Amino acid sequence: MAVLGRWQRLRDVDQRVAREVRQLLVGTLFASPSSLAAGALTGSMISAIIGLSSHDHVLIYLGAAISLVGAVRVAAAMAYRDTNEEERNARAAVWERFYEFGAWSFAALLGLMTYLTITREPNFQLHMLAATTTTGYAAGISGRNAGRPAIAIGQLSLAAAPLTIALAQGGNLACWTLAFANVLFILAMLEITLQTYRVVLKAMTAAHSQAQLAQRFERLAQIDSLTGLRNRFALKSNLDRLLELGGGADSASLLWIDLDRFKEVNDTLGHPVGDQLLRVVAERLQSVARTQDCLARFGGDEFVLLAAGVDRRAARALADRILGLFNTPLLIDGASLHVSVSIGIVTVPHAGLDAEILLKYADMALYHAKAMGRNSSCEFEPAMQHKLMQMRETEQSLRLAIERHELELYYQPILNLGSSQVTCCEALIRWHHPTRGLVSPVEFIPLAERTGQIADITAWVLTEACRAAKTWPNDIRVAVNISPMLLKRADLLQSVMSALIASGLPAQQLELEITETVFMDDSEQSNTMLKALRRIGARLVLDDFGTGYSSLAYLHKYAFDKIKIDSSFVRNIEENRTARAIVNAVVSLARTLEVETVAEGVETASQLDQVRELGCAGVQGFFLSMPIPAAELAVLLDQGVVVPAKRAPMLRLARNAS
Ligand code: C2E
Ligand code: MG
Ligand code: MG
Repeated sequence: MAVLGRWQRLRDVDQRVAREVRQLLVGTLFASPSSLAAGALTGSMISAIIGLSSHDHVLIYLGAAISLVGAVRVAAAMAYRDTNEEERNARAAVWERFYEFGAWSFAALLGLMTYLTITREPNFQLHMLAATTTTGYAAGISGRNAGRPAIAIGQLSLAAAPLTIALAQGGNLACWTLAFANVLFILAMLEITLQTYRVVLKAMTAAHSQAQLAQRFERLAQIDSLTGLRNRFALKSNLDRLLELGGGADSASLLWIDLDRFKEVNDTLGHPVGDQLLRVVAERLQSVARTQDCLARFGGDEFVLLAAGVDRRAARALADRILGLFNTPLLIDGASLHVSVSIGIVTVPHAGLDAEILLKYADMALYHAKAMGRNSSCEFEPAMQHKLMQMRETEQSLRLAIERHELELYYQPILNLGSSQVTCCEALIRWHHPTRGLVSPVEFIPLAERTGQIADITAWVLTEACRAAKTWPNDIRVAVNISPMLLKRADLLQSVMSALIASGLPAQQLELEITETVFMDDSEQSNTMLKALRRIGARLVLDDFGTGYSSLAYLHKYAFDKIKIDSSFVRNIEENRTARAIVNAVVSLARTLEVETVAEGVETASQLDQVRELGCAGVQGFFLSMPIPAAELAVLLDQGVVVPAKRAPMLRLARNAS
């Protein structure tokens, strides 16, 4: 009874076993076709011997049936071995039923043969042969098939019970004792089967849970938790796999995608908005990734797409599609945000390269895309390596430039044509690089803007420029260039106020020059910052007017005090009628808006005449003075140089540096 109860409990447990574990257990039935073949062969041989020795037709037929069933079972085991794992697992229940039917048939036939041999044949040796075969089979099978206990117990009972019945019918004490011993044997084997099953089940369940856990960890270790995309590790493994496979030329392309100005979003709108932005960007990028591609976030605002089977041409087209994804603003918290991306492209494989190098190349190409101006893509070219190294080196040394006192301000006077007085001097930064000599701001300011160092540099320029201007006559203003991106950062206002307070310079004496690219994204933040700067009394100047996003409507909206007409118009003013007409139009429109105009880049007397004729209020350029160090400017201002008459060269100091 106790055995039956335990059997019942185990059956319940067996019903609840995970599908994968059950599949493994079914696999144990077919695990060793050779042991199955040995059983079938022994059973067939013994039954053939008994059948042939006894000349009993029933036993002969039984022997034939045993051989046939045995052969079918061996064939089935071999078929199972040759079936692929997925198919086996999908049809595990069918395989199990089939095995069960074969096993029980074989056992029942063996049992029947033993029973008939003992009850119908007088030959004691045949009795022995039948009885030992059956008992051995029953003992072996209890262990072999314990993974599926119902099958094992069925086989045990069907094979050994007929022997017990035959012995019980023997009619003497020896037979009865043997029958009793056989019952005990069956019970003991049953117990052993159940016990073995429990141990096997426990081990397999544990192994399965462990495998599942490992699989889950592996999955988690490959996912970027913020966006749900793959992470750097997963992409690298994919790329490694692809490179291992070889894949021939142009087997895939890597696109390194980076959000433009993400740092500004994070700094000004806060990290939660930044995170949300990254999630929305991930969604957009996912819309171009196909199932065979791998899209990953590399941390921060960098995404990498490994596009399978995409050659150079297709990669360029894909990059264009990605850039196009950001033509429409992104909706974040109900507000729409204009974002653009830059993309570096490298096509896999460049023979003999590993994943790290390819990723580095894609990163280099991205760096170049950023340098070309954002919202663009760039393909990797070997020449980039040298240029990139130089840029990286410059970036590193620029970080130390302020503390090493390598930065200096030069000043270039701006002359008012009406009063013939210098009314303002523009502060222009110079970098004395320890090995490269004087580095132009055209080279390092964009770099500083990309790396965010521009904030510190501007704070330093403001402090220096205000301090210098405080020593000048108080009707001469100082103009400081402000990168448009800084208008989105709250700390700009603080830098301006600190510089004014520290120097004691009245705010009215400070001009802030902003290039007209500021209008490119007509953002609320820039607008607010410009208003705040005006409120503290600083004057706003629109620099390089005419080069980009010229709009006089914006001039009015942002209430600029001055526009500087870009040197490209002044340069062509003599021979190019269009340039002249543009300057003319700008000057007259500015006059109606009561905005002052300054012509930049005046290099010749004739250019000076022209802009004067057209009504420009002020001029700046090499014809008047190169940008000069603070000390030289002080001398110049001390001389109180004025412009006496038309065409006279002015403010010239004997120096050539710029
Ligand atoms: P910008 O603000 O338009 O400054 C005028 C540039 O034109 C200066 O170049 C000046 O040296 C040059 N220039 C002046 N007169 C003439 C002329 O007659 N002919 C020619 N060919 N050029 C003339 P620089 O100093 O190399 O500065 C280049 C740009 O770098 C500036 O253009 C400005 O956008 C930026 N920059 C300079 N200093 C700073 C700074 O402190 N902060 C920021 N954010 N940008 C700066
Ligand atoms: Mg300027
Ligand atoms: Mg300018």
